[in-house]
Amino acid sequence: MAKFKAIVIEKAEKGQTIGLTEFDEANLMDGDVTVRIGWSTINYKDGLAVTGKAPVVRCFPMIPGIDFAGQVEVSTHPDWKSGDKVILNGWGLGETHLGAYAEKARVKGQWLVRLPPGLSEREAMAIGTAGYTAMLAVMALERHGLKPGDGPVLVTGAAGGVGSVAIALLARLGFQVTASTGRREEADYLKGLGASEIVDRSELSAPPKPLARERWAGGIDSVGSTTLANLLSMTKYGGAVAACGLAGGMDLPASVAPFILRGVSLLGIDSVQCSPKLRVEAWRRLESDLDRGKLEEMTRQIGLSEVIGAAGMILEGRVRGRIVVMIR
Ligand code: NDP
Repeated sequence: MAKFKAIVIEKAEKGQTIGLTEFDEANLMDGDVTVRIGWSTINYKDGLAVTGKAPVVRCFPMIPGIDFAGQVEVSTHPDWKSGDKVILNGWGLGETHLGAYAEKARVKGQWLVRLPPGLSEREAMAIGTAGYTAMLAVMALERHGLKPGDGPVLVTGAAGGVGSVAIALLARLGFQVTASTGRREEADYLKGLGASEIVDRSELSAPPKPLARERWAGGIDSVGSTTLANLLSMTKYGGAVAACGLAGGMDLPASVAPFILRGVSLLGIDSVQCSPKLRVEAWRRLESDLDRGKLEEMTRQIGLSEVIGAAGMILEGRVRGRIVVMIR
């Protein structure tokens, strides 16, 4: 296949242009593994890249898409051979390296994770970077020592991708989960994933007090800004909050009071440069701990030609759960 289908972003005089086109394999970047991509997905960062609303793409032309699942076609890397099923999340894919919204990618072998045998390529991308990040956040809370008996855990941005997977994982692990959402109409959906209580996100959007009533033993936050600041101020003594997102803003108008008076910990979660060891562990845990029925419940499938439209919707907070993209 000398040419394959791909979404390509080009730099324009003002901003960028984007379209579904044919891409020449000879123009793929350096790498020791060529993958036939089967499935990709739409994460919040993909929304930013595709719409150009934030400078996610750092070289042009760029194929966006920060994660894929597929099959190795050609490899000179010792760990991979033709036919191996693989996952790639992050490492600059779709930002500095030609990405996932294409039938092919050429990447570095050390970026790849073997697809766990209990997951299909489609399931892996229904999980996607959002779900893998939710797993990293759960693992960080576990490393902190958080246990179901410690009390409820708050998940913010609950009806989004990270939030939906985080709820399903925490509930399966026995935690009592409170979901914070701006979409009250999604209460049944969130309860179906395992949330036992729903709070309106307005409860976390007022200017935060240094310390508020202790409500949650822990939290997973994909919203940032005043939401995260309020969550910290409401976290119980010795609790922890895993912060991974900025859907509500990049700032953090908080005080040090929760840290120095309640021993609360703020745990940073990064999926892009995360170590291979932690990635493999996260995917192993997703294989064993994520309810497949709930994953299906939170997933909508689209084709490559629908990616550009869907990317705008995720930034508007109109996507429920996860979108999986069938590439071929
Ligand atoms: P989604 O758009 O699917 O989910 C975000 C959710 O946040 C929305 O569904 C909405 O939930 C809530 N939200 C949106 N806008 C606002 C707002 N202005 N104020 C309060 N809440 C808001 O995105 P993802 O789940 O894919 O990603 C979530 C965040 O996590 C993003 O910022 C993303 O960049 C980040 N992320 C970070 C990663 C990392 O490595 N650190 C990896 C993956 C994601 P609701 O309607 O329920 O209120």
